[in-house]
Amino acid sequence: MARSDITVDLGAIRRNARTLLRALGGAELWAVVKADGYGHGAVDVGGAALGAGATALCVATVQEGLTLRRALGAVRVLVLGPASSREIAEARDAALELVIADGEVPEGVRVHVKLDTGMARWGLTELPALSREVVGVMSHFASADCDAAFTELQVERFRSATEAFSHLTRHIANSAGALRYPSAAFDAARCGIALYGASPFGADPAEDGLEPALRWDSQLAQVRLLQPGESTGYGRRFVAERPTWIGIVPVGYADGFRRGLTGTEVRVAGEPRRVVGTVSMDAFAVELDRQLPVGTPVTLLGHGVMAEAHARTAGTIGYELVTGIRSGPDRARRFVVDS
Ligand SMILES: *Cc1c(COP(=O)(O)O)cnc(C)c1O
Repeated sequence: MARSDITVDLGAIRRNARTLLRALGGAELWAVVKADGYGHGAVDVGGAALGAGATALCVATVQEGLTLRRALGAVRVLVLGPASSREIAEARDAALELVIADGEVPEGVRVHVKLDTGMARWGLTELPALSREVVGVMSHFASADCDAAFTELQVERFRSATEAFSHLTRHIANSAGALRYPSAAFDAARCGIALYGASPFGADPAEDGLEPALRWDSQLAQVRLLQPGESTGYGRRFVAERPTWIGIVPVGYADGFRRGLTGTEVRVAGEPRRVVGTVSMDAFAVELDRQLPVGTPVTLLGHGVMAEAHARTAGTIGYELVTGIRSGPDRARRFVVDS
């Protein structure tokens, strides 16, 4: 039996894409599938999003773009991150589009010029003279998940700086911008996290009509009774006060179940149960209310277990949790379904 399984539901991806399209009121949806589709599988997610009406895919690196080009054929692919001169040549050969954030526009490759309106990471402070390679002007929000005033300021800066370029594709919104700021839609929005059905606001995704696309399941590999004073795991962080049944789940931080998840809830046979003791590299413990058989299903994510709740416990965001799940022959097996 595998130690754990992740299941990605392409039906959920398509429904989330349609929810975003409705919020965008006519602007294009560009699906962000960097980091292997936030851990969900870039090729599968990209294909599903395009099928539901997205018109381009966005990745972080040229290598990610080349993978999509090989797998999906003639789709529109934008590389959001910087590219070396060798990668610019590869992008040209594969007809990938690049983002330019330092003024030098390479020839023979379609580019989007990035303007800094407040993120202060990549981006130019002023737009240069635009050559015919330039097909888009863009910017990026710093705090569309939490700061409305600053987001509106960025929208206004972008609007005034790009007024003269309405013949180009103008895009600034991420998921949070697309869901909550109709004024930010412009011509296209680059949406990642919402497509996967996770909340950019750290809230319940259902509040924005989103449906988590990923399930992560394992099972109890060992069930034991701790006597009062006995502990489980490194550092003896959980010591039983009374006779306590615990289950050991064969998933740990090497699989992406982070060490900071002590205290979070997973579901054992469908019931919420607390993670106790220190999460180790390949296993963690859950507190049970009774003896249960080895093999009892444990849900780590999905079916009521929210990435946002785990993220709060671990002091991070849902993005980092799902991106960190390690699937592959040695770790979580990956399945794709279409509901
Ligand atoms: C990752 C990224 C996005 C997508 O952000 P989400 O919050 O996941 O929607 C959009 N634009 C750029 C430039 C990005 O790097």
